[in-house]
Amino acid sequence: MSGATIIDGKAIAVRLREDVAAAVARLGREHGVTPGLAVVLVGEDPASEVYVRNKGRETRAAGMASFEIKVPATTSESALLEIVGELNRRADVDGILVQLPLPPHIDQGRVIEAIDPAKDVDGFHPINAGRLATGQPALVPCTPLGCIMLAKSVQPDLAGLEAVVVGRSNIVGKPVAQLLLAENCTVTIAHSRSRSLPEIAARADLLVAAVGRPELIRGDWIKPGAIVIDVGINRVPGEGGKTRLVGDVHFEDARHVAGAITPVPGGVGPMTIACLLRNTLVAAAARRGVALAV
Ligand code: NAD
Repeated sequence: MSGATIIDGKAIAVRLREDVAAAVARLGREHGVTPGLAVVLVGEDPASEVYVRNKGRETRAAGMASFEIKVPATTSESALLEIVGELNRRADVDGILVQLPLPPHIDQGRVIEAIDPAKDVDGFHPINAGRLATGQPALVPCTPLGCIMLAKSVQPDLAGLEAVVVGRSNIVGKPVAQLLLAENCTVTIAHSRSRSLPEIAARADLLVAAVGRPELIRGDWIKPGAIVIDVGINRVPGEGGKTRLVGDVHFEDARHVAGAITPVPGGVGPMTIACLLRNTLVAAAARRGVALAV
């Protein structure tokens, strides 16, 4: 079978987790510091519970402390803000992540803004978004960071590339675009109101799809040889009444045109938790003035 290099996100995430674990061990040996990540879960959403459990397991496996705070779906906004405030003050907590989505009676923005930006390992606080946009050191959202690492795994220098990001959410599309700009790409952000999406996509040497529409991006929208990073995770009907996961890119068509492509699952997905661990380590080191390169 001809075609693209399949970018193995699973393997790259394993290596990143190993690098983080080694740096955590060094931080403990040389500075007596154990980074700590607190994850707050409001309510009993089964998918969120699985995420939180996995995050806890991976955090401990990297040698860090994991704190899980579970509160009922009926928790008031002010009670949640108090929990965040307490975590902000705790010396043993370096990273705070409030699992989204929150119940509708809680203002998500207000909760994110209550997190100490120095502990905002999701990188969603407007201060971190602003720092990223102005080229200052910032805690960067995990999935976008993972996208850049995957692209650089096949092309270490992205400077000068035409990059097209499809999707403009605050958690994926916009931060990916900012990171690509910081890598000196020429960046276009396309979205639901863009005209001629196929033509825009076809300009891309590097295409990032963060849309949430199963297999929207077809093989003939892709420039031959392009790097394709597929962030989408969509559950669609599969064989025998089961469901299966597909990305925002039609993988089977695209793999014959692209130069390199991430699969779904096994591409961007595994990078997210690995980047969260990396951010927790970075936050722990920065809060103590320790220089680290991860
Ligand atoms: P979102 O719904 O917040 O944003 C989707 C964006 O796509 C919007 O900006 C919208 O303008 C654009 N869009 C929608 N329909 C479009 C169309 N027909 N043509 C062009 N643009 C269109 O979604 P999100 O949170 O940014 O997530 C996007 C996808 O990435 C989802 O499938 C989500 O599950 C996945 N995701 C994966 C990870 C991970 O791998 N860990 C993390 C976050 C999100």
